[in-house]
Amino acid sequence: MFNECAEQALHAMRGHQGLVFFLDLDRFKLWNDSLGHAAGDALLREIADRLGSCTRPEDVVGRLSSDEFAVLMPHCAPDQMRFLAQRMLDAIAEPFSINGVMTTPNACVGVCTYPEDGTDIETLLRHADQAMYAAKGQGSQRWERYRPEMGKISQERADMERELRTTLAAGGLQLHYQPQICSSGAQRLYGVEALARWQHPEWGWVPPPRFIAVAEDSGLIHTLTSWLIDAACTQLATWRAQGVPMPHVSINLSTNNFHLPDFAMQVQQTLLRHGLNGQDLMLEITESVMLDSSPATLNNLQTLHAMGMRLSMDDFGTGYSSLSYLHRLPISELKLDKSFVQDVTVSSAASALTRSVLNIATSLGMTVVAEGVETQEQADWLARHGCPVLQGYRFAKPMPATDIGPWVQQHAERHAAAPLSHPND
Ligand code: C2E
Ligand code: CA
Ligand code: CA
Repeated sequence: MFNECAEQALHAMRGHQGLVFFLDLDRFKLWNDSLGHAAGDALLREIADRLGSCTRPEDVVGRLSSDEFAVLMPHCAPDQMRFLAQRMLDAIAEPFSINGVMTTPNACVGVCTYPEDGTDIETLLRHADQAMYAAKGQGSQRWERYRPEMGKISQERADMERELRTTLAAGGLQLHYQPQICSSGAQRLYGVEALARWQHPEWGWVPPPRFIAVAEDSGLIHTLTSWLIDAACTQLATWRAQGVPMPHVSINLSTNNFHLPDFAMQVQQTLLRHGLNGQDLMLEITESVMLDSSPATLNNLQTLHAMGMRLSMDDFGTGYSSLSYLHRLPISELKLDKSFVQDVTVSSAASALTRSVLNIATSLGMTVVAEGVETQEQADWLARHGCPVLQGYRFAKPMPATDIGPWVQQHAERHAAAPLSHPND
C-alpha cells in the first residue's frame, strides 16, 4: 500500500523535488520480548500517530515491517531535511508508558532525495535504508543523508555475511586462547579466554568485532556460538587428556544467544558429550544481557547457573555499569575493561574507579579479572591493589591451542623457580 501510494505521489510530482525518510526503532525487540506483543503493538501505534502528527496530509506515511516506517514528502527541498528528520526524531523520543512501564522510544532515520538519489520508490527506499543503517552505526537518535558510497558498505556487509555463512558451514573458524594469571604467589594459571579468529583467503584476518557484529545482525550468531562451545569443549577435553592443567575456558556470548529458549540445554548437552561439567566453562556476558528482562533470557541464565556454570560480566565499566543487577543475578566474575587498565597508572580517575570496582567486587564475593594488561607497571599496580587475576599482552597474546600446552609448562617452570619474581624476569 505504501509503495503504491508513493508511486502515485512520485508520478504526480515529476519535475519537483521530494524527500524519502526511512525510520527504524532502536531496541524494539527488547521492548517486545520483555513486555509482550500487546505492549509492542501499542508502541507501534503510538509511533504511527506521532509520525502522522509531524507530517502533512499530502505526505505518504507507512509501516514497512516490524519496526520500520517510511515517509515520502513531496515538494520538499534537500535543505529542509535536517529540520524534518530532527522533528521526527524528537516526536518519537517523547516518553511513552504502558502497564506502568515508562520508556523513551528512540530511532534512527535515513533520508534520500528525489530525483537525485532515485526516481522509483524501490530505489529510494533502498537508499534511505542504507542511510538509516549508517545512522545506526553512529548510535541512537541519529539521522544520515544517503551518499553513494553507502551502497558499497552495505554490499561489503552482504559479502561478509555470505562468506561467514560458508566458512561456518565448512568449520573454517578458529579459536585462539589467552591465558589469565593469578596475580599473587606463583602466578598460577587461572583459566584461558577463547577468542574467535577468522582468516579469509582473500581478506586475511577479519577483526572479531566486525564479523561478530555481522553474525549478530544476520542470525548466524547461533551457529557461531554452537560451534564455539563445541570447539572449546573439544579443546578442553584434549588438554585434560594430555595432562595440561587447565582450570576452565571462558567463552564470549551475545545477547541474542539467550533468546533461544533451549540455549541452556544445548550447552548442557555439549558439556555432557565431552565428559565435562558446569565448572569447566565460564560464560562471559555483557551488560545488555542483564538489561534484557525477557523470560527466555532469565530462564536460560538461571538454568545455566543451576548447572554449575559461572557467569562473568565482560567489559565492566564501559556500559551502564549499573550496580543493582550485580546482586540480582548470580555473577561470579567481573572483567575490568581495558580502558581502565590502560590508564590505571597515569589517570587518577581511572585508578579511583578501579579501586572502587575492586572494593565492590570483593564485598560481593566476585573475582575481578583485569583485561588488557600490557605493562609491568599496570600489573604491579593491580596486584598491589588486590586485583586477583590479570590478562593481557604483558603475559601472553591469544594463541592457537597447540601453543598453550608449552606456554603453561614454561610459565610453571619459571615461577616454580622464583615464585615471587615478575613474569619474564
Ligand atoms: P573481549 O571479550 O573484550 O576480548 C578481549 C579483546 O582484547 C580481544 O580482542 C583480545 O585479543 C584483546 N586483548 C587481549 N589482551 C590485550 C592487551 O593487552 N591489549 C590490548 N589492546 N588488547 C588485548 P579480539 O580477539 O579482537 O576480540 C574483540 C571482541 O570480539 C571481544 O572483546 C569480544 O567482545 C568479541 N569476540 C571475540 N570472540 C568472540 C566469540 O567467540 N563470540 C562472541 N560472541 N564474541 C567474541
Ligand atoms: Ca570477553
Ligand atoms: Ca572484554
